[in-house]
Amino acid sequence: MLPLETVREFVLDRCPARTPVSVPVADALGLVTASEIISAEAIPQFANTAMDGFAVRSADVADAPCELRVVETIAAGHAPQVTVGPGEASRIMTGAIIPPGADAVVMVERTSIVPDDSRDGAAEIVRVEVSVPPGNHVRPAGDDLHAGAHVFGVGTELTAGHLGVLCSLGMTEVKVFPRLRVGVLSTGDELVDDGSPLRPGQIRDSNRRTLLALAHRVDVVPVDLGLAPDDPDRIEAAIATGIDTCDAMVTSGGVSMGDFDYVKSVLDRIGDMAWMQVAIKPAKPLAFGTVGDVPVFGLPGNPVSSMVSFELFARPGLRSMMGHADPVRPTVMATAAEDLPRRADGKTHFMRVLATPRDGGVEVRSAGGQGSHMLWAMAKANALAVVPDGDGVRAGDPVDVLLLD
Ligand code: AMP
Ligand code: MG
Repeated sequence: MLPLETVREFVLDRCPARTPVSVPVADALGLVTASEIISAEAIPQFANTAMDGFAVRSADVADAPCELRVVETIAAGHAPQVTVGPGEASRIMTGAIIPPGADAVVMVERTSIVPDDSRDGAAEIVRVEVSVPPGNHVRPAGDDLHAGAHVFGVGTELTAGHLGVLCSLGMTEVKVFPRLRVGVLSTGDELVDDGSPLRPGQIRDSNRRTLLALAHRVDVVPVDLGLAPDDPDRIEAAIATGIDTCDAMVTSGGVSMGDFDYVKSVLDRIGDMAWMQVAIKPAKPLAFGTVGDVPVFGLPGNPVSSMVSFELFARPGLRSMMGHADPVRPTVMATAAEDLPRRADGKTHFMRVLATPRDGGVEVRSAGGQGSHMLWAMAKANALAVVPDGDGVRAGDPVDVLLLD
């Protein structure tokens, strides 16, 4: 058996980042930047008000309360037309340009309009209740980013906030590592995927939906390659479709030592594959290699094994191809809230657990049955406890965990 780290290095070495491309910002969520983002513009571009209120000369309100003549109303998106002179103020809405002459804003809640029925078209008068320092409620130009600023470095994963910044800078395209298309194929004579009644020996295909969903979470385009029976021609045809249309492939089943494990024989014939026994439980067998330049992950068919195998090998490999500098999920230190027993077998066990916050840390307890066919407990788990070889972890002991998405 090979250590997990050795196998993962092997996988990562064969999953280099793809050639960068420019994509619309609208399509860039979850992608990784391939060039540095420099701001071409200041944000904000002009000094503006953070509050609805009145733009004033701070010197005029030093002895507040006082009264000022209202000379203009400035809405967001409209340029001021009037300079604020001594004894004057402009009504101003959040985000509008600070007018020339004014150097501070008094929020509307600290003002009142002087009632004057006989004004006859004369200027409105505002009563200001408080004195304010220069710059009060003013957001200066460049307050968030100055022009020429280094905004995001190469290797930044673009989240919702990042996309907003790119839009603020007027960018419509961004250079990134491309989003992968990842094909997912289920194999097995026993599998049914149309909800029809099961004949003897049949089971329902759960892995394909799960693996497509896990792929989605890695921000790739999941491509459903369907279900192939244990027939070498049908398996080869499905894999060929995947190789033609995808950047990477994930198969489920048919990679063990059984008589009808044809994924193994097909991939051996058309690809450059390594068949590995990893010192982990679940997910000991892993087939990984390339067909042409398309990485193929041959995951075991047991539902929990396929998910754990995806987490430990496919996810890092796909993230590496998409330019992530840190493709492997980091572990965090947790405390076992109950015994997590296991037997010594030379393997690291990835136990399905529920992680909850506790006293500023994380505590974990078993999510249920730990068999590699027990998908229910895997579905309820939100973390995998990394339990080293030995007889397990006692309640109160520290344990490393992978916090799943
Ligand atoms: P295999 O890796 O093909 O030897 O399959 C191992 C176990 O996983 C068997 O019990 C299969 O019936 C089961 N299995 C294989 N593929 C799937 C699938 N797509 N969905 C659910 N169970 C599966
Ligand atoms: Mg099978």
